[in-house]
Amino acid sequence: MNSKKNLLVYLLLFFLPVFIFAQNNSRPFKVVIDAGHGGKDPGCQGKYSKEKDVALAVALKTGKLISDNCPNVKVIYTRKTDVFVELYRRAEIANSNHADLFISFHCNANENQNANGIETFVMGLHKSEANQAVARAENSAMLKESNYQNNYDGFNPNTPEAAILFSLYSSAYLNNSILIADKVQKNLVRETKLLNRGVKQAGFWVLYKVAMPSILIEMGFLSNTDDEKYLLNENNKNAVADAVFQAFTSYYTQITGNTIEIPINKDNPSNNDNSDHNSVDNQFDKTEKTKEETGKLTSLTKVRFMVQFMAIPEKISLSDSKFKGMPNVNRFKENNLWKYTAGNEISMEDVRVVLKKVKERYPDAFIIAFDGEEKISVSEAQKRLKSTNF
Ligand SMILES: [Zn+2]
Repeated sequence: MNSKKNLLVYLLLFFLPVFIFAQNNSRPFKVVIDAGHGGKDPGCQGKYSKEKDVALAVALKTGKLISDNCPNVKVIYTRKTDVFVELYRRAEIANSNHADLFISFHCNANENQNANGIETFVMGLHKSEANQAVARAENSAMLKESNYQNNYDGFNPNTPEAAILFSLYSSAYLNNSILIADKVQKNLVRETKLLNRGVKQAGFWVLYKVAMPSILIEMGFLSNTDDEKYLLNENNKNAVADAVFQAFTSYYTQITGNTIEIPINKDNPSNNDNSDHNSVDNQFDKTEKTKEETGKLTSLTKVRFMVQFMAIPEKISLSDSKFKGMPNVNRFKENNLWKYTAGNEISMEDVRVVLKKVKERYPDAFIIAFDGEEKISVSEAQKRLKSTNF
């Protein structure tokens, strides 16, 4: 064998993955925001609200949070107004854009008006009759289409055979779907205090068709007085959107290794370097942040865990190359030192993942915690988290 040829092959084998990786890294991450129903399809209905309106409102808020805060993420909407979009068309939009993630927003309803709470679905076999019923209700949106038999190859969501199609489902994307579903569900329950119904699997046509990690969020029951009342409130809609957004950023940084700068505090009166304060100056530095509203929009976040990995007198740009690959790098000033942190997590579990990664480069790194602008001990943070849990 020609050794030069061999060398060429080795070189190719060595550099090809690098090249592919670089290619992947240079394209923006694309997330599809899918507001369920719309137009002639109202979805389920409460006393005062229709699912299509609640879904659209929260979807738009979530999309805005992402596009305002994540410059490297492209947000694609299946609808931005009250129009009817066929189920197959939603999947088409996601697939033709080669999206990286699909998030569908819905509300639940049940004959039993006591049924309440939040659940997040990933595609999979029906594990229970209750899960199947939710999927059946959502899939039946296709019955509103005049030509639905042709668009879905004769699939009828109301027959038992419908489940057989899904029983063949296996997905390369299931792990990541569960990863984002867990984060969304955890955040939503913590932020809204609505009942935690958990992450579930069921046969949703739209999740079945999209070729990417995907979830469907049932944000509460419009048939339940308390859930509906909660979802009618504008601030609460913001809280739901914020919870999904925070889950998204956590997923995004974990999957891509890219960083997103998210202001942690709210209403910061311009950083007037109150340098004579010897005590903690918990204003996370925002001089490099451009969008005023981001602080406002993310103000609903409370207890946060970060990994502190460096404390020095110098103020270094957050885009400095030494922070490359570190998730969510931020900094704050305390006792005349600039302290640099990575991660912005809502649980110890998540911040431990960040810690492990950061320790590869900064073995002395450790976990710290904030409640809004207040720096608190990690144990206090855990206590406060527990007390706000259901
Ligand atoms: Zn729905």
